[in-house]
Amino acid sequence: MRTTLVAGNWKMNGTRDSIKVLLDGIKAGMGDVKCQVAVCAPSIYIADVKLQLEGSNVALGAEDVNEQEKGAFTGEISTSMLNDFAVQYVIVGHSERRDIYKETDELVAKKFAATRAAGMIPILCVGELLEERESGITEQVVARQLKAVIDLEGIAALADCVIAYEPVWAIGTGKTASPEQAQAVHAFIRGLIAEQDKAIANKIQILYGGSVKGSNAVELFAMDDIDGGLIGGASLMADDFLAICRAGKA
Ligand code: PEP
Repeated sequence: MRTTLVAGNWKMNGTRDSIKVLLDGIKAGMGDVKCQVAVCAPSIYIADVKLQLEGSNVALGAEDVNEQEKGAFTGEISTSMLNDFAVQYVIVGHSERRDIYKETDELVAKKFAATRAAGMIPILCVGELLEERESGITEQVVARQLKAVIDLEGIAALADCVIAYEPVWAIGTGKTASPEQAQAVHAFIRGLIAEQDKAIANKIQILYGGSVKGSNAVELFAMDDIDGGLIGGASLMADDFLAICRAGKA
């Protein structure tokens, strides 16, 4: 059985003050949470968040990273900078990065590789646009996004990563994929991995992301191949986030 992971993705939200309130609330409510929990913070707050998480069982994550080791890349954040703050998880290939910042599958694969090389766990986001779902190519899209990583890194690289299936039409829209719709894609992803390595396929945590709330988390996490959630909007309020975390299994 796989442990549930619930990871918050704060995106470009919060202030020092609001993040303190949020983390105080999350830490205070972790007593009855059995699953793994992480928060992925804006890079400017990572040092603050690290200090505030000390002694808690909430892991620290980043929302993105540059694929280069260092150099003239104004405004970017490297894996070694994240390592300096003992960041454990890094989201790569979020649909907002793919869509707004035009990150390609190949670039996402390089970010994935850089994250692993630095000893952190990539949370690789994959997922289809609404028009892709409507044209019946969801599986092709997800397979292509995953293949870019496997082509660059090899299947063994998936042994220490997390995948997040996030249908783009469900992100921040209030429209959640039904548990059956999500399960179908999760099973497809696990099946693809199993074709190359059954042990990795059995072990890998595949999270669902897209308007997860306390009210739908139990049903989603009850599906065989859904091992937790990547949470946007509902990770910004401690009570909402904790309600999702409580739906997770140890
Ligand atoms: C996300 O941004 O990864 C996400 C799933 O957002 P939301 O939960 O707000 O749909």
